[in-house]
Amino acid sequence: MIEFVHDALPGRVVFAAGALARVADEAARLGIERAPLIAGASQAAAAAVIEQGLGGRRAGTIGEAAMHVPIELAEAARATARDIGADGIVCIGGGSVTGLAKAIALDVEIPILAVPTTYSGSEMTTIWGITEGGEKRTGRDRRVLPKTVVYDPGLTAGLALAIAGPSGINAIAHCVEALYAENANPVTSLMAEEGIRAMAEGLRAIARDPDDLDGRARALLGAYFGGASLAVATMGIHHKLCHVLGGTFALPHAETHTVILPHATAFNRDAAPEAMARIAGALDSDDAAGGLRDLAAELGAPTSLAAIGMPEAGLDRTAEAVTAAPYANPAPVDLASVRSLLQDAFGGRRPR
Ligand code: NAD
Repeated sequence: MIEFVHDALPGRVVFAAGALARVADEAARLGIERAPLIAGASQAAAAAVIEQGLGGRRAGTIGEAAMHVPIELAEAARATARDIGADGIVCIGGGSVTGLAKAIALDVEIPILAVPTTYSGSEMTTIWGITEGGEKRTGRDRRVLPKTVVYDPGLTAGLALAIAGPSGINAIAHCVEALYAENANPVTSLMAEEGIRAMAEGLRAIARDPDDLDGRARALLGAYFGGASLAVATMGIHHKLCHVLGGTFALPHAETHTVILPHATAFNRDAAPEAMARIAGALDSDDAAGGLRDLAAELGAPTSLAAIGMPEAGLDRTAEAVTAAPYANPAPVDLASVRSLLQDAFGGRRPR
């Protein structure tokens, strides 16, 4: 019998090529009268369009954002938002920019209008993260969930394949783990499966022709579904591994996900057959783990931990950290099998 609990998150999504021009109207719709604009370094031209549209609704700029939201930047941004009496935030950029907007909203409690320009998916989640004293704290809080998200595939036209590939596979990782999550349900699985399909098709189209706007739109839709999957499903061994690797060895975020995902998927192959069938189908492959590995290779993305700066001497420590506390995952997580997974990922061998 079908039986599930689904906690739907609120939020308005506007998705269209050229939707950038609608940001000001969307801000007005939220009742925002005084919004600082947070713009990523790559988004100066698009930020100027938003600024012009916002006119008098724009109040100041918060210029600096950085990976994993250093507390110093968060505090400075919060102070600016308070000083100008902000009643909303408009942000345009990747996950780092969205992360800074979330750090403000967590404290100042004002709505976020997010315009994402990468595939991080942060704009769809209630997850925030702040780094202090070298340690990243994360949490879930509905105050940080953007009220409106404007997706404009045109904004991603300049994302080189070297960034788009790993960033997109990071979004696929959210979908893969959502499909075998302990709290997976028919709604999340539908979205997760379609997220993998849209992202894989989109990335392949971009690899063939970087100017293919339809391909860019497919990939961005995949990112949206990836973020929405991450938002509601419990993540398993893949995210745990990437969290430890990223936090301990400062490996690049999306590339770490790209390398680990085929191995984490193979790890769960026998324990989650239905998820595997859906993943493989969405990738147009006969094997989920192999299909993910082939996608990365096709896109020229990294396939080994060694290639992204992981020291081999750190593999033991990583396996110990990942198995230190129990968490939900389809296949039982034990030290020997995690260590073996890491060795495979380090050397870049095809997932078993
Ligand atoms: P990012 O925001 O740091 O951007 C990566 C680089 O791409 C930057 O140099 C940026 O300027 C550039 N860039 C952004 N958009 C571009 C575009 N359209 N064209 C060309 N260049 C562009 O990286 P990210 O991968 O988007 O986000 C990573 C961060 O997001 C991490 O801190 C991660 O922890 C966080 N994250 C949070 C969540 C969440 O739910 N809270 C989810 C996923 C990721």
